[in-house]
Amino acid sequence: MTDTTASTLDRADQVRTWDRLYIGGEWVPAHSGRLIESIDPSTEQVWALVAEADEYDVDAAVAAARAAFDGPWRHATTPAQRGVLLYRLAELLRRDAGRLAEIESRDNGKPVRDTTGEMLRAADWFTFYAGLADKLRGAQVPVSEDAHAYTIRQPVGVVGAILPWNSPISLSSWKLAPALAAGNTVVMKPAELTSSSALELARLVEEAGFPPGVVNVVPGYGGVAGARLASHPDVDKVSFTGEHRTAQEIMRQAAGNLKRISFECGGKSPYIVFADADLDRALAVAVHSGFRSTGQSCSLASRVLVERPVYEEFAARLAERAARIRVGMPFDPRTHIGPQTSRAQLEKTQSFIEDGRRAGFRLLTGGGRPAGLDRGYFVEPTVFADVDHDSRMAQEEIFGPVLSVIPFESEDDAVRMANGTRYGLVGGLWTSDVRRAHRVAARIETGLVSVNTFRPILPSLPYGGFKLSGIGRENGLEVMAEYTETKAVYVDLSVDEPADPFAD
Ligand code: NAD
Repeated sequence: MTDTTASTLDRADQVRTWDRLYIGGEWVPAHSGRLIESIDPSTEQVWALVAEADEYDVDAAVAAARAAFDGPWRHATTPAQRGVLLYRLAELLRRDAGRLAEIESRDNGKPVRDTTGEMLRAADWFTFYAGLADKLRGAQVPVSEDAHAYTIRQPVGVVGAILPWNSPISLSSWKLAPALAAGNTVVMKPAELTSSSALELARLVEEAGFPPGVVNVVPGYGGVAGARLASHPDVDKVSFTGEHRTAQEIMRQAAGNLKRISFECGGKSPYIVFADADLDRALAVAVHSGFRSTGQSCSLASRVLVERPVYEEFAARLAERAARIRVGMPFDPRTHIGPQTSRAQLEKTQSFIEDGRRAGFRLLTGGGRPAGLDRGYFVEPTVFADVDHDSRMAQEEIFGPVLSVIPFESEDDAVRMANGTRYGLVGGLWTSDVRRAHRVAARIETGLVSVNTFRPILPSLPYGGFKLSGIGRENGLEVMAEYTETKAVYVDLSVDEPADPFAD
């Protein structure tokens, strides 16, 4: 496998190669012999080649994960030892955060300061679940004096983790850390656009000392490697992050052996600003929450709903701030946001902007290509006001830096609109009325509601969606339910002869 160092990464002319898969603790060539081209979205040049797994490789990875699960991982590794391994992995991630961040920035175009932060946060996830590994308990169930009943939490088995391209390592930590803490083994398939960092993470797994087969990494295309993982009869659970249409397909594929499933899908998050809010704070947070990651976030504050008395002022100030966002190259320290990750994503964003123009929504800023960036999948931060809430722009996830600003007249009106899409991932509201804050938080149909901030993401806080935004929860203690089976054990302690209803 080609060595990866920060210094060679800086040489934009050199195509890097990751030509091995990580299966059963070995670095093996892909069965197909093919390599996936990874394009640097800021230059539109191929910058990396990554081994492409097919069904054969996925089968080998699942067999390795099964052998590890049935062998040393389950029977010779204590929960406390699992925790120690996860702590080690967290430390290695912290050590290599800069190098991994550079790889992800080349792959998906995010500013390197953002990807560096994501690596450090991923390390925090491993630390959190390291501490949990030996604290997962069942319960004693009171039934009668003549019986002892209790529950045991057991790992589900082999987990298939299927990942998107927008935050590859960070989102893989959301799956790997709790799955491993609970005692499962994992076959991970990163997105085809951003596969290299997952193989680098596998190196750290190896260095941390996890037994062979506990973690396996098989980059490949969704319709081939992903589909095989989702339908494989020896995979017990699929944990997926990506688009809801893919989740629907995976649900069908996973039906064969009734796999456990958890899905983190898209969103169209409402950002509700009441007239009594601290508008300066609401504005500062709206800019970051609406445009970070170039809009390529499932929890983007993409529908800005503003109470009528402050609507015009808020929309104008938001547009003015958006126009000052610095769009640029990922490795330039002044850059706030980079390009879109792929040409397809850029074209999707542009089609929504065209839709908005055609529909006659008020374009307050953006809509074009940033000056001076002729190459790369760049697009300006864009704000439309007076957007029809029933329009495609307000209803569909764009996954680009395009905000819809929409007025509302009353609390009921705000709640109706907030809940008026097929998604339900994150919601935020801004008000200085504490009673309204709790009242509206209870009425919003999203898995996370924030008040006077937006989208706090912590390992300790459960995260997930209502409606098309997903099934199940990641993070918090709650995610452990997704990676364990609960077994009830009932021990009869009575000494009397058992009643035999069939005796007569
Ligand atoms: P995607 O659904 O296109 O792909 C996600 C993964 O699924 C990739 O690894 C892909 O190869 C794989 N895949 C594709 N077809 C498959 C199939 N038939 N069977 C099995 N696997 C298959 O999503 P994406 O474009 O990579 O990511 C963007 C989407 O992810 C957005 O909708 C975004 O909102 C969502 N997302 C959600 C969260 C969250 O936590 N809720 C976080 C990040 C991204």
